[in-house]
Amino acid sequence: MTPAPSDSVLSSVISRTGHAARAAWRLALDIALPPLCPACREPLGGDGGLCAPCWSKLSFIAPPYCERLGIPFVYDPGPGILSMQAIADPPAYTRARAAVRYDEVARGLVHAFKYADRLDLAPVMGRWMAQAGAPLLADADALVPVPLHWRRLWARRFNQAAALAEVMSKSAGVPVEVDLLRRTRATPQQVGLARSERARNVEGAFRVPAERRTAVKGRRLVLVDDVLTTGATVDTCARALLRAGARDVDVIVFARVVDPSGAPI
Ligand SMILES: [Zn+2]
Repeated sequence: MTPAPSDSVLSSVISRTGHAARAAWRLALDIALPPLCPACREPLGGDGGLCAPCWSKLSFIAPPYCERLGIPFVYDPGPGILSMQAIADPPAYTRARAAVRYDEVARGLVHAFKYADRLDLAPVMGRWMAQAGAPLLADADALVPVPLHWRRLWARRFNQAAALAEVMSKSAGVPVEVDLLRRTRATPQQVGLARSERARNVEGAFRVPAERRTAVKGRRLVLVDDVLTTGATVDTCARALLRAGARDVDVIVFARVVDPSGAPI
């Protein structure tokens, strides 16, 4: 007479079957959706982020840079020195910092994040931003993501700036305020516009709603966006916040154009 299988044998068979089913399911998913590097479109070995060669090609911004604009200097002029650009055309915001230069690799990453639903990239991008902007976050009362117009938000389903702000908020312990700024009109895409056109394009496009003015007054705010090109958008946002009584406005972005005249978007 064959002895009945013990409980432990049964449970091990069940667990093996379950494990095999899960493995098969994972394999089917991998075949259907091989993860690609968002910058170069090569298949990825790991689970998300960039491939190793692209990772090493990202150009992180480190000091020395302009204290005001965060534009890297080719040599170290000494502490507190401003760039010619900051002196000739000072922005409304106090300081801007970016994690990386906006180049081909950063562009691939940002486009995947923004237009291909790669929200899984937010944690790593947000962490780099928190590192690049650590002194600004230490002084901040709240993070203010640059808002999308509701029509664009509806089409894209998420505000990429708000997603990045949420990640920074967790690591820096600074709250996110999503409704301090409102986009009053859908501005045409900034892509392909010259510096002066960009400034005109966003002029007066943001305002602080009357019921949120008390949340702005006297506070030190950090604007958050994915890319800074000429700075027209964050400058307009900073003006609106300062007009509503903000004490100080800083800016943290993921990537910034270092030479706006020569960089294709
Ligand atoms: Zn790659």
